[in-house]
Amino acid sequence: MPGGRRIAAVTDAHFDVAAGECLALIGESGCGKSVLASALLGLLPANAQAAGEARLGELNLLAADERTLARTVRGRMVGLVPQSPAAHLTPVRTIRSQLEETVGALTDARERTAVRAAAEAAAERAAFPTDHLGLHPHELSGGLAQRAATALALVGDAPLLLADEPTTGLDRDLVDHTVDELRRHVDDGRRALLVITHDLAAAERIADRVAVMYAGRIIELTDAKRFFGTPGPRHPYSRGLLQALPDRAFTPVPGMPPELGDLPDGCAFAPRCDRVTDACAVRPPTIDGVACHQPHVPERLRA
Ligand code: SF4
Repeated sequence: MPGGRRIAAVTDAHFDVAAGECLALIGESGCGKSVLASALLGLLPANAQAAGEARLGELNLLAADERTLARTVRGRMVGLVPQSPAAHLTPVRTIRSQLEETVGALTDARERTAVRAAAEAAAERAAFPTDHLGLHPHELSGGLAQRAATALALVGDAPLLLADEPTTGLDRDLVDHTVDELRRHVDDGRRALLVITHDLAAAERIADRVAVMYAGRIIELTDAKRFFGTPGPRHPYSRGLLQALPDRAFTPVPGMPPELGDLPDGCAFAPRCDRVTDACAVRPPTIDGVACHQPHVPERLRA
């Protein structure tokens, strides 16, 4: 950063996601979710540094050079379903043209008929109607633009789909539809899905497991059914996120997230936490998937 300041946008992120599984990475805007996604795709700004390992098969994504990322990873090993698909699509070209170009870049298809067939197959997998392939992005509804972007992400048949805020700007019906379609792409057991979202309802609908980020750290990683149902989350911040939902207590988490450049030495959630004690002046280790000195204890464990 200017003046030589260093900011840890993401720290100690440990997680895995298997084929046939959906992991939802959730948290407030600015908590580091999209930085993590950018790191996996080698798309961090030039002044950023990433350390550690992110293994996809035999490849460490964080150590891969730009040539490997461009030729092997993006589109082929990791398919990106972008935020704001309408903005991601090229406005002056038809969806067919964009799909066929992507087929040419990511697959072995060269014959015109084979390229056309592969483009149509990707459209069908994403439930994009093939009779709309001749349209331009501005002629598409939000839902169809989302499906077009998903079709582009599916062309390379990547083993990992990375969906970065795929439901932003969509109305609730379309959110449900979109996440159901994304889920369909992992249910055949061939792909893993990492969904980055601040939409907890979407995460509840799609995820097998949930990872909660706060101030650049994963502070809870757990089974989605336990998280959204019983016994519920264990970290005070995770519980606060759920209690903020309109169909729950509709009570916001008090205070504001800390500046990433000015994090306290201890628990970053301490100024907002109703369970804070002196112990929280030391950064909590992650134990059983929760980074907290006083996590909530499920009733049955207490008994
Ligand atoms: S470590 Fe302390 S301050 Fe942080 S969430 Fe847990 S109880 Fe709250």
